[in-house]
Order: sequence, then C-alpha cells, then structure tokens
Amino acid sequence: MIPYGRQEITPADIDAVVEALRSDWLTQGPIVPRFEQALAAYCGAAHGVAVNSATSALHIACLALGLGEDDWLWTSPITFVASANCALYCGASVDFVDIDPRTYNMCSDALAAKLARAEAEGRLPKVVVPVHLCGQPCDMGAIHALSRRYGFRIIEDASHAVGGRYRGGSIGNCRYSDITVFSFHPVKIITTGEGGLATTNDPALAARMELLRSHGITRDPDQMTQAPDGPWSYQQIALGFNYRMTDMQAALGLSQLARLDGYVADRHSLAARYDAALSDLPVITPWRHPDGHSALHLYVIRLTESGSAGRRAIFNALRATGIGVNVHYIPVHTQPWYRAMGFAEGQFPEAERYYREAISLPMFATLQEAQQDAVVRALAKALDA
Ligand SMILES: *Cc1c(COP(=O)(O)O)cnc(C)c1O
Repeated sequence: MIPYGRQEITPADIDAVVEALRSDWLTQGPIVPRFEQALAAYCGAAHGVAVNSATSALHIACLALGLGEDDWLWTSPITFVASANCALYCGASVDFVDIDPRTYNMCSDALAAKLARAEAEGRLPKVVVPVHLCGQPCDMGAIHALSRRYGFRIIEDASHAVGGRYRGGSIGNCRYSDITVFSFHPVKIITTGEGGLATTNDPALAARMELLRSHGITRDPDQMTQAPDGPWSYQQIALGFNYRMTDMQAALGLSQLARLDGYVADRHSLAARYDAALSDLPVITPWRHPDGHSALHLYVIRLTESGSAGRRAIFNALRATGIGVNVHYIPVHTQPWYRAMGFAEGQFPEAERYYREAISLPMFATLQEAQQDAVVRALAKALDA
C-alpha cells in the first residue's frame, strides 16, 4: 500500500532520540527549549511553546486569548475537527465560514460578509482560526485587516504548513496573527511522533501558554500570587494541564527540522510531476496562491463532472490497487457531534461541494517517482472505467 502520507526517520533521527534517552531528562528537559527556539527562529517568531499535540496547542492558545463561555470561535468547515473542538473545550461556541472554491481555505469575502451580519446581531467572534489547508497559506492580509476592524484575535492552524511561506515571510512568524499552531503528527511535514508547537510574538501569551501546558504551576516567585512557603515553593495560579512534550520528542523534532526545507522542496517537485501528469485528466489539480509558497502537506484533486464514475468508485478502485488515497476532510459541521448542536448540510455549500469531489493522492517527501507514476496510471484507469 502506498500511503497518502508518511514520515521519514533517518539514522541521525534515531541517534538524536537515543542520545536523549541516555540523558538525565526524559520528560520536558533542556532539549524542549532548544527545539522551541530553533523552530521560532526558523519562522521568525519571538517565542515558541512546544506541547504534546497541535490539539493541545490550539486549546491553550484559545485559553491564552481569553476564549470562554459566551464567546464565539469561527473556523473553516474543511479542516480536522481539532480546529473547532478547541473552542468547545473552553466552553465557547463554534461557527464556520465557507471556503474559497479555488484555495479551499476560509474565504475572506465570506468572512467579511459574515462579520458584518454578526456585528448587526451583536455576536462577533472573539477568535478566528484560519486553517492553511494542504499547506496553502490563507488570505492572511485580508483576515488580519478584518481583525483590526472587528476586534477579533487570530490563531493560524498551520498544522499542514510548517515550512510554508506567505508574502515573503515564513508561516508562523505571526505577522498577521496572535498565535500560530503547528502539528508534528507523523503524517505531517516533520514529526515528533505526537507533538505540537505554538509560536507568538507576544511574551504574555507565550508565558500564559507555558503556564497552562504544565498544570498552571509556576516556580517563578514573580508570578506567585501568595507569599512562597520556602525555596521549594511552587504555586498553582491557573487551571492548567499536562500538555508537555518530552525531550525524546523534541530531539526528534530538532533532527527533523534540519531537513524541513528539503522536504518542502521534494513535495514541490512531486506536485509539479502530478500537475503535469494529470493535466489531461478530468480533474482539478491544486491551485497555488501567488502570495504564498505552500508547504504542500497534501495534494488534493477534485473530480470534475466528466469523472463520471464518481468519487466513491474512484476511491475504491485506487484503494483496491494499493493506493492509499484519503479524503481531507469531511466538513466539520456535518459531523454528528456538530449536527447535534444544530448544524446541518446545506449551510456551507462550497465546503460541501469540495467535499463531494476531493481525493488526496499520496504526497510525502520520500514518495518515489515510480510509485507516483503508478498512482497516476491507476487514477487514469479508474477515471476511464
Ligand atoms: C493534524 C491536525 C490537527 C491536530 O494535530 P495533532 O497534533 O494530531 O493534535 C489540527 N488541525 C489540523 C488542520 C490538522 O491537520
């Protein structure tokens, strides 16, 4: 089976993890801050806060921005459920903004229109989470301008986008947002097994997220809210969690980070090969936003009308020939948990249309050209059937 995505683990990665295992620290120790600083420096952000998943990072990012009951978070319906669930963890409500039919990201015009309506109704969002789907940057300039006008905060869900660029800067520099969140799940661009990281330029947000990742406990006398009992004192000053990353994970992440630019370049070469090989087939290949450089986490094609066998048949045919195609994503608002909150099919038509037509083809840095050719042949055959 050729999977749709997979990690690469090199001997250098293994050595780095073994070295961490031999050290005095297994949980968060000296390697975690090294990884944080290296990734923040790579992105051009002032701070990085590493945690055990992007889901955890989204949660503490929302809390750090003060999201709570009576607040709204808006995100894209075409994302992994974690981009929306983070609001529910905080007791806040979720709503969605339909996607742009060309980029498949949150549409900034739809956002502007929805904000105007929400302002009239007195229910503006506190936080908006644009998701850089497939690694393609969202229209951050426009979204940021809207945040100034309507007073919301921005968390970029860049789980797909580490190594990507927007308007001459790296995704994660937070030039157009308060916080950016990355994932290091093994199917993503670089991995720590499980892991996530939040970047920000705001020292207060970084300090708040650091506190929340480890139980809300501080050992810093300046942060303590009552007189310390003694030099051993630690004080819980917030309700936090155990969201720490381990040093083994950070060692893997640091080792992988050295290959990040190479990985993104490999993905672009593969995407260019797909673009050329698929140009005669009745499919829509991914559009690339001229303002950005996608990290190309996913290569999603859309089956147009002439692909008459339909998405299900094509999906089954490819799976039957050992091609691990996938669908990213089932619109979040159509998940049972969200339907139970009152969402229904028909609310976000562009997202729903995209969902009916989308298939993710295998895309990962170590995908071999012969494997890719087999994917193309199998797809052409399935479309012809
Ligand atoms: C993978 C992913 C997440 C969650 O990442 P984890 O590290 O697995 O928690 C969140 N948002 C998007 C868009 C993702 O693809």
